[in-house]
Amino acid sequence: MAWAILGLVCCAVSSCGEPETPPSNAAKGKGASPNRPNILLIVVDTLRRDHLSCYGHPVNTSPAIDALAAKSVVYNRAYAQAPWTTPSLAALLSSRYPTALGIKGDRSALSPDLVLLPEVLQEAGYETAAVVSHSFCSSRWGFDQGFNAFDETNVLGHAAVTSEGVSDQGLAFLQTQEDAQEPWFLWLHYFDPHCAYIEQEGSPTPPNDYAGLVKSGQLYQELWQARRDLSEDDYNELRRLYDSEIRHTDEHIGRVLDHLERTGAMDNTIIVFTADHGEEFGDHGSIGHARTLHEELIGVPLIAHIPGIAPTTVEQPVALIDVYPTLLSALGLPPQQGMEGRDIRPGSAQIDQPRVIFSETNRGGKLRAAISGNLKIVTRGRFGQLTAFDLENDPTEAKPLDNRQHAGVLALAPLLAQWGERMRAEAIPEHTVDLTGDDQSQLEQLGYGGDDEETPRRGRKRKD
Ligand SMILES: [Zn+2]
Repeated sequence: MAWAILGLVCCAVSSCGEPETPPSNAAKGKGASPNRPNILLIVVDTLRRDHLSCYGHPVNTSPAIDALAAKSVVYNRAYAQAPWTTPSLAALLSSRYPTALGIKGDRSALSPDLVLLPEVLQEAGYETAAVVSHSFCSSRWGFDQGFNAFDETNVLGHAAVTSEGVSDQGLAFLQTQEDAQEPWFLWLHYFDPHCAYIEQEGSPTPPNDYAGLVKSGQLYQELWQARRDLSEDDYNELRRLYDSEIRHTDEHIGRVLDHLERTGAMDNTIIVFTADHGEEFGDHGSIGHARTLHEELIGVPLIAHIPGIAPTTVEQPVALIDVYPTLLSALGLPPQQGMEGRDIRPGSAQIDQPRVIFSETNRGGKLRAAISGNLKIVTRGRFGQLTAFDLENDPTEAKPLDNRQHAGVLALAPLLAQWGERMRAEAIPEHTVDLTGDDQSQLEQLGYGGDDEETPRRGRKRKD
């Protein structure tokens, strides 16, 4: 796309200034921390947790990710802080909630005043690199802060297949690091499971005799228009194509993991695998993402391979805002001011402490969710119309609780309201992408627009 910045963008010094809490035990510059582990952060866009084999999906979508999970900490209840790309990844890299970050809609970018995970790692002597494949986490939206190298050659739109290119760029970076003294931090962002769903070679479920309206590579606009008429066969075909994209992505993630094994780097590399949000296939009467806070959209995989920590599973609810503080703790670096997450390594002092996790979106209405144990409440709109779910007995959120009779809801609702007020009070000014006329035109053609608190206009192609 013409408005995307292509090529390797070097930004050795970000405009973010000094960390609020400078790492106390790390000297500045390269080679300062040769004994610290490398860090690989893998994010697959639009990957709902329950479509990975290691989380129980009956289709073999993820052999490489499953192999990583087998030697890692697997979090069974990880939550994204928003059901679409920019706010979710902003929360991941800042350990703050989207409203506090000033992120509202399509034009919202990461403020240069924030101190992000890659900036702290860069300051601690890490060689930092990223490969991204969606404009909503590109340099235009401020996501290059703290990266010595930021590759955007795979930001190619929704019809392109880019997992191979993302892994190629990642492997090229890793090869430059084989004899390096300083540790590295690499963020790989994959995009293929995002609509359009394209049948890939080696699909885990081969094509059948389905002859309905769903087609490989179909525009989201067409699916959105037809969403009220989709049959279970249509949804099954959508899921089959989605699984094909996941398997294709897994294959290319596997190439990177194999490289780490082959070169012996795996034993000294923390690997965090996750997603920015999930995807709906009729679970609550719609398709796509961004417009609800149901489990299929904010339930994400989270797998952490941490050298020295034995493989296990964690059942407590955790959040993407936990990744940043957990990594700092694992590296012996002090926390940053204003972090909302916690250290979720098994055995940490914080992991068993009671907590409430929040998630939010402004698309399709103003929605705010609070999760505490197995209880989840969601408020909608200015007056906070409330729905509650018992996730233990109703994991698919099919039967809302009777709010008035539930003591847990009565206790949790004020906490959600207080959090909302605190977020509004703490919110930094929105930092917006400066779009040219051509940019705006391209965005309109892709279906983006300023409908942050409205239902998307029917017939427009929406990609979040
Ligand atoms: Zn996304």
